[in-house]
Amino acid sequence: MGTKRVTEASEAVQTTRLSRMYIDGKWMDSLSKKTRDVLNPATGECIGTVAEGGAEEAEMAIRAARRAFDEDGWPERHARERAELLHRVADLLEENAEQFAVLDTLNNGKPLRESRYDAEDAANQFRYFAGLATKPKGQTYDVPDDMQAMVVREPIGVVSQIIPWNYPLVMATQKIAPALAAGCTLVIKPAEQTPLSLIRLFELLDEAGLPAGVANLVLGAGETVGAVMSRHPLVDKVAFTGGTDTGIAIMKAAADTVKKVGLELGGKSPNIVFADADFETAVDYALFGIFSNQGQVCSAGSRLLLEKTIYDRFIAELAERAQQITVGPGMDESTEMGPLISEEQMNRVLSYIEIGKKEGASLLCGGYRLTENGLEHGFFIAPTIFTDTKPDMRIVQEEIFGPVLVIQTFETEEEAIRLANGTRYGLAGAVFTSDGAKAQRVIRKLRAGITWINTYHPTFNEAPWGGYKQSGIGRELGTYGFEEYLETKQINVNLNVQPS
Ligand code: NAD
Repeated sequence: MGTKRVTEASEAVQTTRLSRMYIDGKWMDSLSKKTRDVLNPATGECIGTVAEGGAEEAEMAIRAARRAFDEDGWPERHARERAELLHRVADLLEENAEQFAVLDTLNNGKPLRESRYDAEDAANQFRYFAGLATKPKGQTYDVPDDMQAMVVREPIGVVSQIIPWNYPLVMATQKIAPALAAGCTLVIKPAEQTPLSLIRLFELLDEAGLPAGVANLVLGAGETVGAVMSRHPLVDKVAFTGGTDTGIAIMKAAADTVKKVGLELGGKSPNIVFADADFETAVDYALFGIFSNQGQVCSAGSRLLLEKTIYDRFIAELAERAQQITVGPGMDESTEMGPLISEEQMNRVLSYIEIGKKEGASLLCGGYRLTENGLEHGFFIAPTIFTDTKPDMRIVQEEIFGPVLVIQTFETEEEAIRLANGTRYGLAGAVFTSDGAKAQRVIRKLRAGITWINTYHPTFNEAPWGGYKQSGIGRELGTYGFEEYLETKQINVNLNVQPS
């Protein structure tokens, strides 16, 4: 790690010295004075101590957001004014991009090259939704009467936003930016493990001039803060990203008051490689699909489906390349894969590796914790690949959320499609082939919301993100994601008023 990096890193952590919640335009500690230590997963060291809120702080934040929506006039502000504020936030994010990258790398573990990309993406999300705020919305209709029927779009109201730890900044900005652009007010909660970049983002929202109560940050546990945010009667919508089982609990909690619910959940996405695919391209993306962000990506290509005729050659190349991946602290510029987020997550992934072995799958490479060359205190696992799997094995069906790839094989197009769709998830998927028609046929049969042909992972703020089946409800990003923060109202105007 160079000296410049170390300085930036320590400065970045210092700026989170407040480490507090932001409720109704004010920074505050938790009422109970409870705190939580935040760790660097590459070293296991504490890098900050933040306030630990509870149900009471969630209640205060929701009430502030309700007042800002109902009484303080945020939804009535001109769209252009809201857009200008979002552009100011984007400017500030760009000015501080390196600091955000360092914060996410220190707190989440991901390599700097990935967190730099995230910081850029976050600024772009504010710009994208600032643009959409002022674009035409609504329609008019010809109806069989002397009436003008029209539809206007209005902000949904107060939104609870609950996010996971795998993209601490971007998961927050892709919820905050469209909500503010639409004229909603919000309460957001980061994952317990990764609050730092979101605290810093709230410093920027404050600096940009966001009115009190419009966006509120509550820190704390899912079971306390998150539960109140999911069931509170003053909340109109819950937007959640996280595990499918948590999403089910949130949907149930939101049901009593019929909240709108947006869920971005887990995945076990298939990456299908036909024998006629460009070999090197397919190998590159098979590796990138599973090992970027240590496999802690909802859309990770965690199941590789190989056509039998290329199986031997493909797995030989894959194993060799996987073992060359440079694993280390994200702050090292040469690192290609960092640590898992926590000891708990590392143990969860290691336990899945044991399950895979017991189920009879074979380890092609990896399968163990890395504890040498300075990695002994971090939560590192070697890139791991299983072969000889069966479709009903737990390692094939369940989301592991770590650097573990399982390989399945197929002989026909129909079999590939059947295997690809054979889990409860439907988030993402890819097909590699040089036959254009086959690529289209197969991709159209995939029951998944995010798909690729001859690539894996690139997605853009312009296009909708979300899952089929138990991978979620609704979409984020793009115009589809913006719509999720809007209500639809019809207005019927009598064109033939008779003076009495
Ligand atoms: P998680 O479900 O454990 O936690 C996510 C958030 O929910 C955290 O903020 C947590 O505090 C909160 N939470 C936990 N229990 C809650 C409850 N009962 N009520 C309200 N809130 C509660 O998920 P995680 O371990 O942080 O993240 C990993 C999961 O997220 C994976 O399954 C991954 O696939 C998924 N994910 C999905 C997407 C997507 O876009 N589909 C993106 C990123 C991550």
